[in-house]
Amino acid sequence: MAVEQAEGRETQIIRTSVVGIVANVALAAFKAVVGTLSSSIAIVLDAVNNLSDALSSFITILGTKLAAKAPDHNHPYGHGRAEYLTTIVIAVIVLGAGFSSFKESIDRIIHPEQSSYEAVMLLIIAVAVVAKIVLGSYFKKRGRALDSDTLVASGADATMDALVSSATLAAALINMFTGLSLEAWLGIAISILIIKAGYEILREALDKILGKRIDTDIAMGIKETVCGIDGVLGAYDLVLNDYGPENAMGSIHVEVDENLTAKEIDRMTRSIQQAVLAKHHISLHTVGIYSVNTACNATDDVAAIRAQLDQIAAAEPYVLQTHGLYVETNIKTVLLDIVVSFDAPDREAVCARVAQALGEAFPAYRFKTTLDADISD
Ligand SMILES: [Zn+2]
Repeated sequence: MAVEQAEGRETQIIRTSVVGIVANVALAAFKAVVGTLSSSIAIVLDAVNNLSDALSSFITILGTKLAAKAPDHNHPYGHGRAEYLTTIVIAVIVLGAGFSSFKESIDRIIHPEQSSYEAVMLLIIAVAVVAKIVLGSYFKKRGRALDSDTLVASGADATMDALVSSATLAAALINMFTGLSLEAWLGIAISILIIKAGYEILREALDKILGKRIDTDIAMGIKETVCGIDGVLGAYDLVLNDYGPENAMGSIHVEVDENLTAKEIDRMTRSIQQAVLAKHHISLHTVGIYSVNTACNATDDVAAIRAQLDQIAAAEPYVLQTHGLYVETNIKTVLLDIVVSFDAPDREAVCARVAQALGEAFPAYRFKTTLDADISD
């Protein structure tokens, strides 16, 4: 673990990928020689498949290198998302393999042709299966440890190859002993599995590029850390933008005592930023402030408005949360934020209804509501 941290993510992903390239090139060479000697087109084609896996390891290295580039004038958020793009390229390679083996299997069913298997061919396939299983689990394990979707994707690709080869092996054995040819039907089943795997890798990468909802555990963890800072009465509106693995940045709003001075708030927001960076490796660029009426000067009105708001909010199915309630008693104005679900047919209307209900209950006050999006849990 200590070694892993000292070495850095980039170096380790590259090392893992180099292992993949070496293993796949070795397998390809091995199969190409045996395939040529035994004049088996299937084994030669399998060699080509190994070369495409070596290519995806090469793409992983390329993506990692690009992603590790320091931020510059034109790309101030860094280049981390390059890794999601290379994951997409690998997903496309996996999908391509799936569709082409699907097409081949259909061809085989339409034009059946008797394959002739030899013991040496089966042995080669068996060796390739073992090598691919080992390589696949190695990639997936390293990929998870290093938070690299590209490596996990390559691992899934290798496992799929092992599955394809072992099905070929099983079909060959069945054919040898029973004369039954199942190869094509097995091929269809495997192709569907490969296409499904490719689609999942693609969707995961696209989700990250589009901007996925923050993981609940992460959102709750950050809010807990922020609420642990002295002076924070509540944490809301957490926004995070994912600019690549281990490169998220965002903002948060906190409720504080209305009597804090700028000096105190400054110190508090810096503590929040430091704590979140240290504990979650996330840069909070902005900490917004909501002031809270404190008990010492809060009037009866404040307590009554708060109670009424809770009641109204509970009756509105699309209101997920209200926060930032601040009653300016001197100018009879109330500020508050309302988090309205994306499921609401008209989110503005929900907000307006709450404001109107409050206005009817407290005609002396003006209610200024802010419609918040349900960005994080
Ligand atoms: Zn808010």
